[in-house]
Parts: sequence; structure tokens; C-alpha cells
Amino acid sequence: MRWQGGQRGGGIEDRRGMGGGAVAGGGIGVAVLALIGYFVFGIDPSTTQQVASQFGQAGTSQEGRMGTPEDQAGQFVDVVGENINDVWRTKLDGYTPPASTVLYEQGTSTGCGFGQSAMGPFYCPADQKVYLDLAFWQEMETQLGASGADFARAYVLAHEIGHHVQTLTGASEQVQRAQQGASSEAEGNRYSVALELQADCYAGVWAANAASVSSGEVAVEQGDLEEGLRTASAIGDDTLQRRSGGQVSPESFTHGSSAQRMEWLQRGYQTGDPASCDTFQGL
Ligand SMILES: [Zn+2]
Repeated sequence: MRWQGGQRGGGIEDRRGMGGGAVAGGGIGVAVLALIGYFVFGIDPSTTQQVASQFGQAGTSQEGRMGTPEDQAGQFVDVVGENINDVWRTKLDGYTPPASTVLYEQGTSTGCGFGQSAMGPFYCPADQKVYLDLAFWQEMETQLGASGADFARAYVLAHEIGHHVQTLTGASEQVQRAQQGASSEAEGNRYSVALELQADCYAGVWAANAASVSSGEVAVEQGDLEEGLRTASAIGDDTLQRRSGGQVSPESFTHGSSAQRMEWLQRGYQTGDPASCDTFQGL
């Protein structure tokens, strides 16, 4: 994909090199790694709270340097994030970008409790910030078999900003309420899957509109979508469950199967219209 020369947003909060990773050491690291996959791409805030209390670091706030980072990876997040925001400004009346995108290493405090890189990237509705540990991108490629292409990384970012959109539209809150009233865990999980698949679809909507809002400076090129689909496939719940040596049990899915994740990313890309992302139909 093209992104160099695209407009910067300056909404990056850089906490790299600020420490906060102490809790990731030792035996805890191993335990947390076992959870990878269940947290990949977005996390249920109540789960974050549990993790936070487990590590006893909730509630403290940390501030990083705001602006545009100097390094390539930081600039990528800034430029692509701004492009995603520009798309949503044209798609959602009254759209406001996330408060910031936080770059961190290993662990950091968030409005949803203590965030750890082993959770994968996530969005915290309480402070409206996206949290990214850039090392995850490496892991996505080497451990999960996803694509290392720029577009695959942009898909991750667009998915997380998709959760921000869901916070603005009220979809996230509706799902939380529905989950509280759910009669079984399986039913609650179905709402979670619908929310996640919608964020995948929203990522496709961004990709379809990236070039038109940026006069082509940020653009999806031939072969990019395939890299995104390969990533969507690698992080499907069934694939992750199989990879971790467990049985595939659809009722425990929280993000959707590989086939579903690919299907909704593609649907958003083909229509370019968020209205086509009604993953809640039939629930
Ligand atoms: Zn998600």
C-alpha cells in the first residue's frame, strides 16, 4: 500500500521507552502469552479490568509525548490513522477521532486497567484511546502466521478505530447491555463476535475509501487485500484454537471464525459503505 507522503495527524501518544513493562517478566509473561489470540484485536473492557486487578496496576495514569514520532513505524501509524479518521469524517456525522493512539512497550496503564502487549492491540472505550505495542506486528507475522505487509498492519489499526466508531454509534454499549442480559455465555459470545466482525467490516470500509479521501497519497494497491485476508484468516478463533492445540468450539468464539473475518473484511471493502456492516442481523 502507499502511505509515505500522506498527511500526518499528530495524534500519537508515544510511551515507548517509558518503562511500565516490569509486570511482564517471569512467570506472568508465560501465563499471559497463553492468552494471546483471545485478546488479539480488541478486548472486552471487563476482561481488561480483570487482568488489571490481577496485576494490581489499575487506575494509575501515564502520559506520553504527543505528536508525530520520528521513526518509520510511528509515522506509519500516524499517517494511516489520520487517513482512517478522514474516511470516518465522511462516513459518520459528528465523527471525532480517538483521543490518541498510544504506542507503548510491554505494558502501560489505560482507562480500562493495565494494558499488556500480550493482549494484542486494543481499544479502551473509557479513555477512547487505541493501544498498540508495535512488537505485536512482528509477532503477528512470526507466531500467528499473519501477513507482515503494511496493509495487514493498517487493517489492525482500522479494526481498532472501528471499535472507536462503535463507541460513538452506541453499538458497543448496546452489546454490553445485551451481554449482561444474556442467558448463557455462548449467547454473550455471539454478541461479541458480531461486534468484532463489524470492526473487521469497518476496516474494509476504510480500505475502500483510503485513496479518495487522501488524493491517492494513501492508497490500497493490488495484492493488499489478499494480505489483509490472510491476516483475517490467521486470527480467526477456529484457527487460533487449532494453533494452540485445543479443540475448536464455536460457542466459545469471541471474534469470529477465519471464514467470517475474511468475509466481513471483504464485504466492507466491496461496498465501501458502513451500512453494509450489519453483523447484528439475526441475533
Ligand atoms: Zn476487536
